[in-house]
Amino acid sequence: MQEREEATNVLFWRMRATIGIVTGLIVFFTSLIFYFSSVRDDYFIELLEETLLLIPLLLVSSYLTYELDMKYKKVKAGYSLYIRNSVSYLYIVVPFWIMSAVVILSFGKPYLTFIYLDVILSLIITAIIINVRVQIWKRISKEIDSPTVLKRAKGISERMGIKVSGFRVVDWSKTKIANAFQAGLFRPYIFVSNFLLENLTEDEDMAIIAHELAHAKRKHLKKTLIFVGIDILVIGNTLFAVIVFLLNYGLRLGLAFGITVSIFTTTYVLLPFLQRRYEKEADLIAASFTDPKLLSDSLLKISRLNHSPLNLPRRLNLSHPSTNERVEYLKEMENDRDKEANDMGIRSRGELNH
Ligand SMILES: [Zn+2]
Repeated sequence: MQEREEATNVLFWRMRATIGIVTGLIVFFTSLIFYFSSVRDDYFIELLEETLLLIPLLLVSSYLTYELDMKYKKVKAGYSLYIRNSVSYLYIVVPFWIMSAVVILSFGKPYLTFIYLDVILSLIITAIIINVRVQIWKRISKEIDSPTVLKRAKGISERMGIKVSGFRVVDWSKTKIANAFQAGLFRPYIFVSNFLLENLTEDEDMAIIAHELAHAKRKHLKKTLIFVGIDILVIGNTLFAVIVFLLNYGLRLGLAFGITVSIFTTTYVLLPFLQRRYEKEADLIAASFTDPKLLSDSLLKISRLNHSPLNLPRRLNLSHPSTNERVEYLKEMENDRDKEANDMGIRSRGELNH
């Protein structure tokens, strides 16, 4: 029974990822085609054409994801919610187009473009740091209303010695997403979806909240952002310099690759290495403040709630180790703990005998 569930979940995630990747690739290559086939003065018309061309693609892609979620997760949300999520692709495409148009139209000199590239990359990094989504989440969430959950969560954060701005609950019951995350650079907020809170026991909720608090304790978000910032700047500048000054392929190619490749390699190749380490670290800290068994039980439950395979392949979930991997090292920790308790028991009994 469980094996069958796992197989279905793997299929579900594969299909979902395929839709996302194919859509992303089409968007990316469409941008490139428009970018390189363009004439200097037509940038804004092309931007309009590209956007118009992408809209039907995004509608189809979001519809397929919606159908898939309806079939496997039996979501109660409407299609419009999926369109909204899908349209977020345009947030990447449109600013890229406007920026590159401005650069090429106004300068055209290699060194000025070089400086401009750094201004753009710095703006992108600033946007990531400010994280407008925190403001949106804050607006759409409310404080956790259970006094006991709130009190216990505050208790753990005090024991860990960290200050948080609040524990908030987001309504994801329609999309059936069981998730928790921390956001905000200074005095972060801990967000938990109500679908998670309601489907786990209070003790399990605490284990998950402790995991998020552990991220804050170790300043994982800050470290990640510093890493991402430096990375994007170094890769972006190097690529630009190599393409423009060494290979003489021109400013447009240098700019396009400097921006896109640095962001893509950072988010899809380098960042996952760091994130996976941080996830394990947060798990182990959370388990030491709560209980390893409790945390692994919660993780198993969450996988099940999200129809996420226990052995989710690495390429489908870059930022987290698979649930089985996490359960495994938590079990190890639990065994070590038992052994330690046993040893101490023997020792103390020994002391009593003497
Ligand atoms: Zn985490």
